[in-house]
Amino acid sequence: MALIVQKYGGSSVADAEGMKRVAVRIVTTKRAGNQVVVVVSAMGDTTDELIDLANQITPIPQGRELDMLLTAGERISMALLAMAISNLGHEARSFTGSQAGVITDSVHGKARIIDVTPGRIKEALEEGAIAIVAGFQGISQDTKDVTTLGRGGSDTTAVALAAALDADVCEIYTDVDGVYSADPRVVPNARKLKSVTYDEMLELAASGAKVLHLRCVEYARRYEMPIHVRSSFSTNEGTWVVRNHPEGDTMEQAIISGIAHDKSEAKITIVGVPDHTGVAARIFQAIADSDINIDMIVQNVSAASTGLTDISFTLPKSEGPSATATLKRIQGEVGFLSIQYDDQIGKLSLVGAGMRSHPGVTANFFAALSEAGVNIEMISTSEIRISIICRAADLERGVKAAHSAFELDESQGEATVYGGTGR
Ligand code: ADP
Ligand code: ASP
Ligand code: MG
Repeated sequence: MALIVQKYGGSSVADAEGMKRVAVRIVTTKRAGNQVVVVVSAMGDTTDELIDLANQITPIPQGRELDMLLTAGERISMALLAMAISNLGHEARSFTGSQAGVITDSVHGKARIIDVTPGRIKEALEEGAIAIVAGFQGISQDTKDVTTLGRGGSDTTAVALAAALDADVCEIYTDVDGVYSADPRVVPNARKLKSVTYDEMLELAASGAKVLHLRCVEYARRYEMPIHVRSSFSTNEGTWVVRNHPEGDTMEQAIISGIAHDKSEAKITIVGVPDHTGVAARIFQAIADSDINIDMIVQNVSAASTGLTDISFTLPKSEGPSATATLKRIQGEVGFLSIQYDDQIGKLSLVGAGMRSHPGVTANFFAALSEAGVNIEMISTSEIRISIICRAADLERGVKAAHSAFELDESQGEATVYGGTGR
């Protein structure tokens, strides 16, 4: 008997019909002789709607209360899904994140899982029931308050539970047939990948391919949990996220596995920074102390005559106000001239293990961008990734150009996007 963890995203359970369709799928898996644990997200765009609602009350809701509000979305789903399964003649028991033993730190809005103690889930399974767990939520070890894991966090709940239960596989059901060479909403002739390695998927997820939550991939890699990303609207084989590409998978030879894009970042430029030892350390210490994650950093050569330089860095738009406030606070002490905030940027990333051994990838990439009229503002690289920042308005054109330049376009038809609003 296999133990399978299945996660259904918001678009898969967007309405009552969706709930019933998913319930049939779960019961079929159970009837095939498996033990089944299901992790479910909030219905459709519920989480976004709850955030909008909170923002109508206050621009900066308290983290504790916002988490309490948002976790309600997944509670609605889990109860409805348990009812739909029960209608099909199987026992299903729903559990909140806390009841399922998802223990986190106490950082509201982006809590990290520190332990999973799924005693009640195991009990339900032993008694022959299907366990339904609310994704995206946990309970803080210290404060005992309800926490959320960050947007898209139900994927992480699923993999963390799969690891704690020593499941055979974690299936992530979504609204496309798997992981594609680019977001099929932007590149309709993107190619479905048969397999993608944990390392490649980590870079794709970190670069904005929201099909999998970044921390879920980190978790899967650490516990070597195979993930099967597939559609809940079809029975097509999806994409396997694994340690190495299986032998014979042609993707192994591909230089570039995928292209990710991200419009959720902003750029801050600190103008006229005195070019002394320790100044950058002081600035970024202040940013770190405010719990702000930064991504790319560029520092210009200082003009000899002035001894001043400019430093630019990117960060999530959601952390823009807090970063700007932090910098203004240390402006007098550090002595820089001004701050510029730009939220009209896009990030485009090329990811592939093959680029390690193939020179010329950067040159081809930049040539494709230049032909498409996309100006590069910042560049950063890792061993298997090249990212650039450009104008947000140019981003999708750049993605399409790079996709064609690396011959990733699928000749046989277009990818199906089954649901979701892309929000
Ligand atoms: P769910 O609600 O099921 O968690 P998400 O909206 O979080 O679904 O993630 C699925 C979406 O991710 C797809 O609809 C697609 O638009 C987007 N996406 C971005 N990059 C990729 C990619 N490389 N492959 C597949 N989907 C991608
Ligand atoms: N409902 C949450 C969100 O929209 C978690 C998830 O869907 O994974 O971010
Ligand atoms: Mg998601």
